[in-house]
Amino acid sequence: MHDPRPGLRRASRALAATLAYLVLASFTAREDGAAAASTADALQRLQAGNVRFVRAVAAGDVPVLEQSGATATPVAAVLSCADARTAPEIIFGAAPGDLFVVRSLGQVVDRAVVGSLEHAVESLHVPTLVVMGHDACSAVTAATDSHTSALSAHLDYLVKAIRAGLPHGAADQQDVRGAVLANVEQVINDLLGASPALRAAVESGRLTVAGAYYESGTGKVVFSSPVGRTTSW
Ligand SMILES: [Zn+2]
Repeated sequence: MHDPRPGLRRASRALAATLAYLVLASFTAREDGAAAASTADALQRLQAGNVRFVRAVAAGDVPVLEQSGATATPVAAVLSCADARTAPEIIFGAAPGDLFVVRSLGQVVDRAVVGSLEHAVESLHVPTLVVMGHDACSAVTAATDSHTSALSAHLDYLVKAIRAGLPHGAADQQDVRGAVLANVEQVINDLLGASPALRAAVESGRLTVAGAYYESGTGKVVFSSPVGRTTSW
C-alpha cells in the first residue's frame, strides 16, 4: 500500500515554509506603506479575535464545541453567498457545529460545492439544505449587467453561471431581488440536477431543500416552501 508519509512530510515542510514566510512578511509589512499596514492591522484583528474566542471557550461561553475527533451533527446545511455580510452562523444564531456551511459568490455551484453538500447529507445525515441568496448581491448584480468590465477567467465563470439562471437568460435586469430569487431557484436545480445522491435523498424524504432570501436591512430571512426541484415565494 502507498505510504502517505513522504507526501505528508513534503506538505509539512511546505506548510512550515509558508508559515515562516507569513511571519517574516508580517514583520516587514509594518515598515511598508498604507496597504501593508492594513494587512498587518487585519492580522492583528484576527489574532485579537481569536484570543477572545479562546477565552470564551475556556469560560464555557461557547455553547457547542465538538470534542476532538468527534463527528459534528449539524441541523442543516446552508449554501450561501461569500459576501462578508451574510454569514449564516450569525444570521441564524448558530453555535459551532450547528450548521454545515458552504459559500461561494452568488452561491454558484461547482463540483466542490456539490461534493461538500453530498458529504453533509450522506455522511453527516443533515436533513435540511437551505440555499440562501441576499439583497444587493454584487455577484448577481454583475450578472444582470451585460456591460461588465473585463473579469478574470474564474470570475467570468461565476458571473456567467449566475446569468444563465436569470429569467430567459437575459442580462440588464433592473429587478435585482427578482434576479436573486431566480438565481436561488437555479442553484437548487443545479444541485439536484448534478447530484444523484442529493436527488435520491429528496425523493426518499431524507432531505428537505428550501430556498431563502436574506434582507440585510432588517436581518430577516424569507424562506420558500420546502420542496425539491422548484421554489416559490
Ligand atoms: Zn452576494
